[in-house]
Amino acid sequence: MLSRRVCLFLASLLVLLLSRNALAAAPVWVDEAPTGPLGQDLSLLIDASGKLTLDQVRARVGSGFVAGERSVPAFGIGADPVWFRLVVDNPTADSVLRVLLAGTSWIDQLDFYVIHEGQLVTHQTAGDREAHYQRPVAGMGYLFRHQFAPGQSEVYLRASTPDPLLLPLRMLTPEALEKAERQSFYSYGMVYGFVLALLAYNLMLYFGIGQQSHLNYSLYLSCFLLMNVAYTGHGYVLFWSEWQGLQRYIILAFMAMFACAGFRFAINFLGLKEYAPRVARLIRLFCVSMLSLLAAFIALGMQQAAAFLAFSYALSFAIAMVVLGWDAVRRGRAAGSYFLAAACSGMAGVAITTITVWGWIPFTQAGYRAVEIGVLVEATLLALAVAYRVREHESARHAAEYLARIDPLTGLLNRRALAEQGERLRAAAQRHRRPLALVIFDLDHFKFINDLHGHAVGDQVLKETANLLQMLCRRDDLAARWGGEEFIVVLPDADIMAARNLAERLREQLQQRKLWAGDVQIELRASFGVAVLRDQESIDALIAEADVLLYRAKQSGRNRICSDDDRLPGGAAEVC
Ligand code: GH3
Ligand code: MG
Ligand code: MG
Repeated sequence: MLSRRVCLFLASLLVLLLSRNALAAAPVWVDEAPTGPLGQDLSLLIDASGKLTLDQVRARVGSGFVAGERSVPAFGIGADPVWFRLVVDNPTADSVLRVLLAGTSWIDQLDFYVIHEGQLVTHQTAGDREAHYQRPVAGMGYLFRHQFAPGQSEVYLRASTPDPLLLPLRMLTPEALEKAERQSFYSYGMVYGFVLALLAYNLMLYFGIGQQSHLNYSLYLSCFLLMNVAYTGHGYVLFWSEWQGLQRYIILAFMAMFACAGFRFAINFLGLKEYAPRVARLIRLFCVSMLSLLAAFIALGMQQAAAFLAFSYALSFAIAMVVLGWDAVRRGRAAGSYFLAAACSGMAGVAITTITVWGWIPFTQAGYRAVEIGVLVEATLLALAVAYRVREHESARHAAEYLARIDPLTGLLNRRALAEQGERLRAAAQRHRRPLALVIFDLDHFKFINDLHGHAVGDQVLKETANLLQMLCRRDDLAARWGGEEFIVVLPDADIMAARNLAERLREQLQQRKLWAGDVQIELRASFGVAVLRDQESIDALIAEADVLLYRAKQSGRNRICSDDDRLPGGAAEVC
């Protein structure tokens, strides 16, 4: 959808550039349904004094007026008042109702005059300068209805505003107006619906998992929504129509808030305070200065200066977001590329709308509404970015959990993990009446190895022992370093013979291991205690039993295995 719009936008840009020289101002026929904006059917007169009357303006027809060159005339911020002249021809015998639509909602004052047979037949005033002026239709702009009498009529429209002066003018039949209103209704419904759903989703996430970036993002979306509601005229018509004068400043205030909230989100999302605290401080200072200055301009009633400031702020915000995103990618920040892609689409939208409204590029619907398309794409990409961040947090948490369970020297489970997992295995074995055995072993005279060859060699011996242990264990066995040079293996589904068997193989292989410290061979020996699960109430009880047997193995000369073998005649006799 975006690419189609972009293509349309570029195509219309090309067409407009090629048709700049077309001189027109031929009469518009009311019996033909006009399709697009009337910019090239008009002639224009700029009123530098701001004081020309209708009669004075009419006297200048033929000398002062110039033919409109663009389909939508745009004059930028703080332009002089402009008079538009349009000749409307009604070739039928009856009068015909037509609606002139001026498609922007923030113009301060619009005066609509129709002259027929030299007589002024109507004068309507619209705009947001005075409370009694005709208000805009939400999402559409200002509407002037007139019954055009048979023959030619002259339409004059005077527009004055300190805001960006741009005026997409269209002449519509009542049916075409209804259709345009329906289209506007549905398209804004879609945009607002999407943003509101996203807002609700982010707020729920914030209240659910308490991550600040969700709140900041919600704030940003809210400001976008407010700004949109303000500049489309929905806010003026639906919410603040009674507060005269508010409409003139509220768009600017919401624009500034939008940029502020965007900066706040970016600083938090990118973690700017950690890696570029000075930039973060600078941005904050910039935002505070812009807001204070804007507040001062508004308080002093300097509407034009306020408009200029708000638009500059929005534009610098658009550029800054892309720069911040680019820098985040360059520094390899988490989710930086998502942020950059989001910033580029959102900010391209803001930039295109801003320069369209400013009048730097020819007006198109796609250009005018680019901010909405951009923000919708941006919102989708940022939702992905936030999901990516959540996934990153998850894997960091998993890594931390893994590290908390592993003995760093040997890579075996540590004491805590064995106690937890061993207890689970014990309970399961008892519940399902399955056998389970436990082997504990301790290296013999390890202190001697340490003392003789040094601690590093001692460490090496511990690693070798762990490797051997892992090699001999089955996949479901739990092998752990219980402490110092003491190890434990929990063997599910193993009886005493299987456990003794493992212990025996371990003992033998340790003994056969040829380890060298320089040219001195290290003798490795270990003593073992083997116990099986009967009715012990905890894994600790089983370990304590095995430990007693290990002690016995040490006492009886080391390098041996002791177990309580109840299969032997005479019951649970302990054997070594
Ligand atoms: P026994 O045959 O009675 O078990 O004698 P032993 O010397 O093996 O036992 P003792 O408990 O007296 O000594 C254990 C030694 O293990 C003491 C301690 O410094 C050493 N040790 C504990 N943890 C580590 C470790 O992570 N690395 C190294 N290199 N030595 C360790
Ligand atoms: Mg020892
Ligand atoms: Mg020991």
